Amino acid sequence: MEFLVRFWGTRGSIPTPGHATKRFGGNTSCVELNIDGVLMICDGGSGLRELGLSLSAQAESQVEAHMFFCHMHWDHIQGFPFFVPAYSNQSKLYVYEVARNERCIREMLHGQMSSDYFPVQFTDLGAQILSANLQGGSTTIDGVTVRLFEQHHPGRSFAYSFEKGGKKFVYATDNELDLTLANREESLSDLEAPRRLPDAFIDFIRDADLLVADGQYTDQEYPAKVGWGHARANTVVDAAIAASVKQCAIYHHDPMHSDSVVDSIVTAAEARTQARGSAVTVFGAREGMALKL
Ligand SMILES: [Zn+2]
Ligand SMILES: [Zn+2]
Repeated sequence: MEFLVRFWGTRGSIPTPGHATKRFGGNTSCVELNIDGVLMICDGGSGLRELGLSLSAQAESQVEAHMFFCHMHWDHIQGFPFFVPAYSNQSKLYVYEVARNERCIREMLHGQMSSDYFPVQFTDLGAQILSANLQGGSTTIDGVTVRLFEQHHPGRSFAYSFEKGGKKFVYATDNELDLTLANREESLSDLEAPRRLPDAFIDFIRDADLLVADGQYTDQEYPAKVGWGHARANTVVDAAIAASVKQCAIYHHDPMHSDSVVDSIVTAAEARTQARGSAVTVFGAREGMALKL
């Protein structure tokens, strides 16, 4: 079985090109999964443009992809109008709808391409863009089990897990884990104490071979950002340890963080896992990085 993961965009909030971010990358959220030849895409930030170019370069004019959006903030959709396969009438794109009684994701992708914002209309795209249903919380796609988990973020956001052949990948970005802590106040003053996370989230990520999680803030930054919808990297580390995750990628890097700041966040995260005697591997998600599970 083949289970490949590739990062096309790792930045949160806004693209940040430039020398200071060239190692971890400046493109916003986008991760590609290739599971036994089935293409799944998590988020359509500016990294999606690069993924589209790569797919076209492989002469795959007929792209079939399953697309999962954690939510519709700009940094998760802004690459979609530049996704070359969407312009091919041989492509088929499934967009997964996750919540009832809300504007559907497909319609919201229309919205960012209205003529006030963009020259080409959604209806001019050549691809078949189909709504697919994940409203029951799980589905199976060509033998891959996909599950959904609602997170803490302004305007809602959803995590996804993908499992096949005993391998598990979890994509959990834009999630203010710290707001869900049982010991929230204590965790802001005692930074070393383990953070007590809700069982439901721990169960959702349990035993993942790879967890990609929003760790946008340092412990020091977070008190000024409470309610903005993102987590402290060290809280993500504690969740990975509690859930016996094998590898944890700190993701959704803050646009204010240079490569060296991300390095220091990862170093602190590694020290935390070592202090706990945990075997989890922690690293900073890097644009262009590919892993085989
Ligand atoms: Zn975001
Ligand atoms: Zn957001």
